[in-house]
Amino acid sequence: MIAMLQELRDRQLEQWPMACANYERLGETLRRSFDAGPLHGAFQYNPARIVSTSAKVDKESIGKRPCFLCAANRPTEQLSEEILPGWEFLINPFPIFPLHFTIAASTHRPQDEIPLEMASMAERLRGMTVFFNGARAGASAPDHLHCQAVATFELPLMRYLEEGGDPALLPFRVDYRVITPDLAGMAALNEISSVAGVDRLTGEEDPRLVNAYFWIGADGLLRAAVVRRSAHRPSCYPGGEAVEAESSKSLMVSPGAIDMAGVVVLPRREDFDAISDSDIRLIYSEVALAPVISQTAVSDEGK
Ligand SMILES: [Zn+2]
Repeated sequence: MIAMLQELRDRQLEQWPMACANYERLGETLRRSFDAGPLHGAFQYNPARIVSTSAKVDKESIGKRPCFLCAANRPTEQLSEEILPGWEFLINPFPIFPLHFTIAASTHRPQDEIPLEMASMAERLRGMTVFFNGARAGASAPDHLHCQAVATFELPLMRYLEEGGDPALLPFRVDYRVITPDLAGMAALNEISSVAGVDRLTGEEDPRLVNAYFWIGADGLLRAAVVRRSAHRPSCYPGGEAVEAESSKSLMVSPGAIDMAGVVVLPRREDFDAISDSDIRLIYSEVALAPVISQTAVSDEGK
């Protein structure tokens, strides 16, 4: 399957100059590592991502633009492969990694809840993580159901979880399950795909405030992780959502699933130069729920 995808990407790069230029420019991106607790992540300076980072995702702006995931409006150069019935595999023309795909529903319907088909996609895309940005958690097309896929080794959060890292030590809450191929696994899958974030301004649960990830681990078992978000953009985002702990810096960071998985994309060079480990910890705390203290940690504290 991966060979088919590489072939799709290579064919696209031959035929689509804009996408080709953006993949070539990946070689010019800069990287710098950071630590947010046990999450050893990286900042990525990637000027081509300005389109996604600064995308207007309010209802009015979305209503005014033609949907770029509908087949009728896609660039004529963009090819698609059906990965599952009703789902089309497309190259992402604004990549963060050398293998970066968008998987769009064939029909125009909203990005309302985590599609369970992601489990089957992960099964077919071994070596890759299939992930989902909820409509209020980084999706730049909240009106058209879609997910994305990148190589699992690129995502520090997935590596940490698979190596047996404790989710409770992460800088934000991550619900994580290994899905066994039995009834218990089915129940866990249902449970994890129905979790919701909590809006930090209203305190209300919202299933659109999530980032979800599915992948097959080295042991062949399906894994699912969900980050429960509390806001889309942090206080440092220019004109971003108002939150209590106002950051003094102005940083164009608009976290989606990849940023929450430990690769934080900065389309402006000055932000890449200025952002610190404490900035990213503050950003994480502003846009996602706090981690749940594990039972062992609680009982240790009580001693
Ligand atoms: Zn559409």
